[in-house]
Parts: sequence; structure tokens; C-alpha cells
Amino acid sequence: MCAILDWFVPDQTNEINGENLYNVKTIHEDKQSFTHTVHPYDIAIVGGGMVGMALACSLATTPLTKHLNVAIIDSNPLGSKVSIKKEDPPDPRVSTVTPATISLFKDVGAWQYVQQHRHAYFDKLQVWDYTGLGYTKYNAKDVNKDVLGCVVENKVLHSSLFSRVEDTDFQKTIHPSRLTLMSLHPSSSSTVESSLSTEASYVNGCLAKLELSDGSSLYAKLVVGADGAKSQVRQLAGFKTTGWNYSQNAVICTVEHSVENQCAWQRFLPGGPIALLPMGDKFSNIVWTMNPKEAADCKSMNEDDFVKAVNHALDYGYGPHPKSSLLASADMFSWLGGNLVISANDSFEVPPKVVKLASARMAFPLSLMHAKDYASRRVVLIGDAAHAVHPLAGQGVNLGFGDAFALSRIIAEGIAVGMDIGEVSLLKKYEAERKPANVTMMAILDGFQKAYSVDFGPLNILRAAAFHGAHHISPLKRSIISYASGEQRLPLFS
Ligand SMILES: Cc1cc2nc3c(=O)[nH]c(=O)nc-3n(C[C@H](O)[C@H](O)[C@H](O)COP(=O)(O)OP(=O)(O)OC[C@H]3O[C@@H](n4cnc5c(N)ncnc54)[C@H](O)[C@@H]3O)c2cc1C
Repeated sequence: MCAILDWFVPDQTNEINGENLYNVKTIHEDKQSFTHTVHPYDIAIVGGGMVGMALACSLATTPLTKHLNVAIIDSNPLGSKVSIKKEDPPDPRVSTVTPATISLFKDVGAWQYVQQHRHAYFDKLQVWDYTGLGYTKYNAKDVNKDVLGCVVENKVLHSSLFSRVEDTDFQKTIHPSRLTLMSLHPSSSSTVESSLSTEASYVNGCLAKLELSDGSSLYAKLVVGADGAKSQVRQLAGFKTTGWNYSQNAVICTVEHSVENQCAWQRFLPGGPIALLPMGDKFSNIVWTMNPKEAADCKSMNEDDFVKAVNHALDYGYGPHPKSSLLASADMFSWLGGNLVISANDSFEVPPKVVKLASARMAFPLSLMHAKDYASRRVVLIGDAAHAVHPLAGQGVNLGFGDAFALSRIIAEGIAVGMDIGEVSLLKKYEAERKPANVTMMAILDGFQKAYSVDFGPLNILRAAAFHGAHHISPLKRSIISYASGEQRLPLFS
């Protein structure tokens, strides 16, 4: 009798140690489900959110992968069922996408669909500190770029990727269901033999089996966990994680101005940063980080009070404006050196006033999570399933898109040399490429979050010095912008 290793859902407390836990089923029990077996898939993408759909889109438009037979499993409605009307105020769930992401979308032909909907490019970003000691202004022209980024509703990004997939003759099957169980036999064959039946391939360890909440099951050579921060795939496969909760919530909403906002703004307050992101048509998006009690108050206060609180947070509230007299600032930080010639465009500005709340307010708890491994035999993680970061620099889904496009490329490379796409050595190439990029960004964002969770005189001066350096030392400034734009260079002097 041959036993199989069955990944299963560990409870919350043993997730970290989940790697060694498994169920054992007998072949006899398992054979009963073979009666409903269908043709196996090459790839099963579990989670058809923005990142899972980006993978589907990249596979569908790459010559070496467009013939693959792919299942997308998600109980959320995908693609065309989501209504996007230009006359509605923007949905508060938006993402700031970097120039690197924009080029990836252009490469696969999905950006043209984004351009048919509301989106707002910005070429200026002002970041400042509530103590009044420091501010930094970034301009796209500092790095010879046209834009620093673009703010797009998540549903627009998602439906654009979906529309692009629909435009191709990619063989995809959508399963409107949830993954509940996943199993894999130990490998007894090093290659996938096409002459074998699905059942024999599964028994040989050449296919993973997925069981869904609607009672159906399917088989795939490769399972991609794109199922978000609480990834079932990650838990079922026993990937260990590290991370912590920030005890902070992000309150998000759409607001309206009397003039169009064309700049991205972020002010660090004692409780966390508040960001005001342009959305076009006099709308902006607010992402305001605070403790859970304040978030509950912010969500329940009446609209007028909320608008006042937002304007207070983006203007004189909590502390003065940074010194507009740049000479005073230059004196204070003269020990930092750097080029102190500043144009009028670089002087501190107050963001446009918010006049109206234009959407519901939503609150999201924030945490940091990183999977220790992204890949094992026949299983790989992308997007928030592999890493969840603080939204303070708007990098989360950009990292996820980077994962999706890298994985698609590595699958194509494997196909080009005749490899089994579920082979761990191939999937580890993806992990080796993406982990350093993701870990570096996570460390930077976590460092920022920590530096701003303490209100302490000397630390405030140090933070202000960091702003000052970032503002006045041109090479550092260029490096920071390049890094935040999605170019994989560390923010060091270049
Ligand atoms: C307040 C806030 C602001 C943010 N702003 C930005 C920003 O400006 N820029 C940026 O880059 N990032 C931002 N992020 C991060 C970004 O939203 C996430 O990184 C992104 O949504 C992750 O996408 P994903 O597809 O990996 O996961 P998700 O969006 O979580 O999608 C996972 C999908 O998997 C499905 N699923 C889950 N479990 C199962 C299952 N068992 N079976 C089948 N399907 C399943 C779900 O239905 C869902 O559709 C922000 C996050 C927050 C909280």
C-alpha cells in the first residue's frame, strides 16, 4: 500500500511549524475521487486577484507559455462582472503603480485598457514631518522620467489584465470556488510522462491534486498560490512565515477638492503617515495609518468632522509647516553637506484642501509577513501570499506584479529547455530572483514604520536630517526615486 502526503490546513498557532505536519491517506481512499478526474492542468492559479491575473496575462501573451492549459480558482467574481463607470467617484481601493509596473503592463498589452479608465499620473511627491523639521520633494525630472507613478483603482488594474487575457486564445478555465485541500505524492519519477493517465501521473508525484469548496477536484503540474496574505496554498504546503502585526489600521477613502490635485503627498504624523494621492477629476485618495481605536473613531465620525480632521492632518495639525525659509533649514543641517541650491519648485507646499468625502471609509489592519520559502516541488507563491508589507510607500502590489512577471518568464525558460514546470530546481530560480528584492523593500518599509512610531526629540532631529539629506543630496535623491520607481537598485549613493 502506498501512502501519500496530504498537505492540510494547520491552525493559526502551528502555522509557523506547519512544515512537518501532514495527513496520511491511503491510495484506496484516494482512488474513489478518480471517478471524476478530468484532464490535468499545466498550472492552477489559486487566487485570481490582481497578482494572479497578472500571471495569467503574462502567460497568455508569452509565445512559449500561451499554449498552456491554466485553471484560475477564485470565488470572487473575476473580470467583466465588475462594473466600472467613469462617472462614479473612484473606488477607495487604489494602488500607486510604479514606472516599472507600467512598463510590465505595456509589455503584455494591458496598459492600453488601464488608459481607457480613470487613472492619474503624478510627477511630484512631497513627503514631510509633523515636527516641522524636515521635508523632501521628489520630481520625476530629477531622474529624467516623465512620471513618478500612476494611481489606479484596483478594479481597473484587475479588469485590464482580465480583458487582455480575454483578448487572446489562452486556454483558461475559471473555477468560481475556493481551494480547501491540496495533496501531492512523493515523487517516484523525475519526468512528466505524457503517456500516463492523470491518475498514474498523480500517483507518480507528477501532479498535485486540488480539492475545491464546491466539491470538485482538479490536478495540475504546478500550483501557484496567489491567494493573498492569508494564503491557503501557503498553509497547506506548510511554508513557514515570519512577521508581526503593526497594531495599526489604514483608513482609506476617496475625497474631493475644489481644484485638481496633481501631486502625491505624504505627511508623517505621530500615529502614522497620511497620504493624499491624486485620482484625477478633482478626486484624491486618502490612506491614513493610525491605531485601531482612532481608526474606528475616524470611520464613525460625521462627514464634516472627518473632512476637518483630514485637513488638520495635512496642514498645521500636530505641528508647524517645515521652514519655508530654506536658508534656516540649510543652516541647521549644514553638517550633512550636499548641494544646497534649491529652486522655487522645491519649496514646501500645503496640499489642496479637501472639501468633501466622496466614498465610504474602510479600515484595514496592517501587518508584515514574509514566507521563508516561496517554492517547493509543484508549489510556488506570488504576491501577498509570499509577502505582505506596510502600505506607506505603496509598494505591495508592485512587488507582487514583479513576482508574477518573473515567474512567467522562468516558466517560459523551463519550457524552452524541456523541463517539468513543477520541478523544484526551476521554481527555486524564481525564488532566488524575487526574494532579495522583496526582502530589501520590506526592510526599508519596516524601518520607516519603526522610525515614525516614536516621538522623541533626538530621533525627530535624526529623521529630519534624513529628510534633509534626501532633499538636498542629489545622488541620494536620485537613488531613492529610482528605487521607489521599481528599479532594483539600492537607495545608496550612485
Ligand atoms: C490600505 C492599503 C493600501 C495599499 N496601497 C497600495 C499601493 O498604493 N500600491 C501597492 O503596490 N500596493 C498597495 N497595497 C497592497 C496591495 O493592495 C496588495 O499587495 C495586493 O492587493 C495583493 O494582491 P494579491 O493578488 O497578491 O492578493 P489579494 O488582493 O489578497 O488577492 C487574493 C485573491 O485570492 C482569492 N483567494 C483567497 N483565498 C482563496 C482560496 N482559498 N481559494 C481560492 N481563491 C482564494 C481572493 O478571493 C482574492 O481574489 C495596499 C494595501 C492596503 C491594505
